[in-house]
Amino acid sequence: MHPQVERTLEEVKRRNPGEPEFQQAVFEVLNSISLAVDRDPSLADHALLERLVEPERQILFRVPWVDDSGTVRVNRGYRVEFNSALGPYKGGLRFHRSVNRNIIKSLGFEQIFKNALTGQSLGGGKGGSDFDPHGKSDWEVMNFCQAYMTELSRHIGDKTDVPAGDIGVGQREIGFLFGQYRRLKNRWETGVLTGKGLDWGGSHARREATGYGVVFFAREMLLKRGEDLEGKIVTVSGSGNVAIYAIEKALQFGAKPVTFSDSSGWVYDPDGVDLDLLKEIKEGRRGRVAEYAERRPRAEFHAEGRPWSVPCHVALPCATENELNEDDARELAKNGCEIIAEGANMPCSHDAVEVFAQSGILFAPGKAANAGGVAVSSLEMEQNAARARWTFQEVEGNLAEIMRDIHTNCLETADEYARPGDYVVGANIRAFMRVSAAMHAQGVF
Ligand code: GLU
Repeated sequence: MHPQVERTLEEVKRRNPGEPEFQQAVFEVLNSISLAVDRDPSLADHALLERLVEPERQILFRVPWVDDSGTVRVNRGYRVEFNSALGPYKGGLRFHRSVNRNIIKSLGFEQIFKNALTGQSLGGGKGGSDFDPHGKSDWEVMNFCQAYMTELSRHIGDKTDVPAGDIGVGQREIGFLFGQYRRLKNRWETGVLTGKGLDWGGSHARREATGYGVVFFAREMLLKRGEDLEGKIVTVSGSGNVAIYAIEKALQFGAKPVTFSDSSGWVYDPDGVDLDLLKEIKEGRRGRVAEYAERRPRAEFHAEGRPWSVPCHVALPCATENELNEDDARELAKNGCEIIAEGANMPCSHDAVEVFAQSGILFAPGKAANAGGVAVSSLEMEQNAARARWTFQEVEGNLAEIMRDIHTNCLETADEYARPGDYVVGANIRAFMRVSAAMHAQGVF
């Protein structure tokens, strides 16, 4: 590892104690970047690496709100504005019990590179709260969102920072957040948030974008090997937006998705997922995946374990961080899995990724494979700025092209650094080159 990169990593550890996920996210990226700095040490001039790993701004705030019983509850709100060299800060909001500064910083750091890979004008940021929407009434979710936006509204804007959804934040939450922003500012500023409803500034295909994008990317990986998705068995985890629309696109390409999951367990349906039933349960009723198994004769529900024990050609982890570990990776390799593409952010542990490399499984990191969501967010911003609405086909066509470009760019960069087929190195270096050039050009700040 280049000594400058090593020093930066040491500093990151010293200055961010007790933040293992953040340290890990930085390590993964700098580990690849080191190859580029070896070749051209001037890339690290003017403390570029030290600036890159330090968020431009971190906002931490109290979110007091009133629940249905009239009790005042207090959560913590976050927004980390990490890097704006390429455009306004852009990234989702996560509402989940596990949210803390470490998690938001690690996701914000990843987002810089993901957004750079899309080729759009997007900086990187991330936010959220330790509020858990599960089991809360619509009124409680609204009260919380209004309280959260009351503070956040001071910091965001269509040219400053543009949040969107992530785990626990879907169209319902974006609606409450947008309503409160509009009420506070008295401005119809649709470009301040993405993931909006179609009739109030949203884009066609935004909801589908991340899941569709992952499948477009996985298909490019297969095409490169002279194969296609037709007839392939696909295992998927999760049952949110990403998983549901990955399953939809996989079905459209003639593949057979056979699994999905939620926090209560996972389902294996050997006949292939019945998408209408899954949508009815998850999107219609916010129900649990076990209900699916009760209504399909051959489907099995498992409260224990994970879908990675099911033999497959393609695995798409679309649930959450570190959901696929070293043992899962060995199981996938043993069962002949060929391709893994991350639909979630950092779902595969570091050790799992090493196993993929040793076993010859092609692995696409989330910053490349799941960039379709934020890419269509950028198309939503573009439509908002032009007061336009593109058709579903136009947006989807753009998305497919963006995913193809990301795939090609990652492979080309991997080849340049003599690491053919290494999507991790390709994605990290390609994104870094774009961000670092913009940072150098804009001077030290
Ligand atoms: N939360 C998504 C992601 O991780 C989308 C972000 C966005 O659309 O701004 O990329």
